[in-house]
Amino acid sequence: MELSIEFFPPKTSDGFEKLLKTRELLNSQIRPSFYSVTYGAGGSTQAGTLQTVKEIHKSGQVVAPHLSCVGNSRDQVRELLRYFRDLGIRRMVALRGDLPSGMGQYGEFHHANELVEFIRLETADWFHIEVAAYPEVHPQAKSPEKDVEFFVQKVQAGANSAITQYFFNSDSYFRFVDEVKKKGVDVPIVPGIMPITSSAQLLRFSDACGSEVPRWVRLRLQSYGDDTASIKSFGEEVVTSLCEKLMTSGVPGLHFYCLNQAEPVLRVTKNLNLV
Ligand code: FAD
Repeated sequence: MELSIEFFPPKTSDGFEKLLKTRELLNSQIRPSFYSVTYGAGGSTQAGTLQTVKEIHKSGQVVAPHLSCVGNSRDQVRELLRYFRDLGIRRMVALRGDLPSGMGQYGEFHHANELVEFIRLETADWFHIEVAAYPEVHPQAKSPEKDVEFFVQKVQAGANSAITQYFFNSDSYFRFVDEVKKKGVDVPIVPGIMPITSSAQLLRFSDACGSEVPRWVRLRLQSYGDDTASIKSFGEEVVTSLCEKLMTSGVPGLHFYCLNQAEPVLRVTKNLNLV
C-alpha cells in the first residue's frame, strides 16, 4: 500500500524551511511513495509551486506537481508541461481548479478531462496522471450520477489513477469505487485523508469543499472549545479508525493532506503500524 503526502507551497522563506524539515521527518519515518504540491488556480501560486517541486525533486524523491487549468491558456499549460518534463518529473495531478473570486474568465479549459486530454496529446505517456475524485459528490455536480460519469470520462481521457477529496464516512468511498467499477473503469482510487488538528479550520474547509463532517464529530470538536490537546487526541482517534477501515478493505494507498505538518500524519501512521 502506497503512502503519499500533499504539501501546499509556503508563502515565506520560514515556511519553506519548515516544509523541508517536515519532508525530511516524513521521509525518515514513513518513506512516502511521492509528495504532491498544490497549484493555485489561475497560476496564483505558480512560483511557490515550482520552487517547492524543484527542491523536492532535487533531493531525489518523487514529486507530483498539481496543475489546475482554469484561467490558464493552452500555451501556458504547454510551457508548464515542458518545464516539468525538462526537470525529469514523471507524475502530476491534473485538475480543473476553482477560479479565485474576482478572476472572471475560465480560459481555454473548462473541465479536468480537457486538461488530461491535452497533457496526453502534448506529452504522450511521459506523465503518470492523477485526477481528483469526490466520494461525497463535487459541490457543483449536476447530480451524483453525472459526477461519476464525468469522473469516468476524465479517466478515459488518459488518467492513470485518482486521489479523493477527504471524507470521514468510508461508505461514501466504497460506493463511489463500486459505481466507477460498474462503468468498467478500474484505476486505483486512493482515499485522501485529512488529519484533524483544529476544529474551526476543519469545519471551514469542509463547508467549502463539500466534505461532510459527521454530526457527532462536529459536536465533539465544538465541545472542546480551545482545548487543542483534546481536539488533536480525538481527531487522531477518528482518523486512525477511518484509515483502519479503509486498509482492511484493501485500499491502494492513503494520501495525506498534511497541511505542511508532519506530526499529525506521524501519529496516525504510527497507530496503523506504518512507521
Ligand atoms: P472536474 O473534474 O472538471 O469537475 C468539476 C465539476 O464539473 C464537477 O461538478 C463535475 O461533475 C463537473 N464536470 C466534470 N467534467 C465535466 C464535463 N466534461 N462537462 C460538464 N461538467 C463536468 N484545487 C486547486 O486549485 N489547486 C490544487 O492543487 C488542488 N488540488 C486538489 C487535489 C485533490 C486530490 C482534490 C480532490 C482537489 C484539489 N483541488 C485543487 C480542488 C479542485 O480543483 C476543485 O475541487 C475543483 O472545483 C474541481 O476540480 P476537478 O479537477 O475535480 O474538476
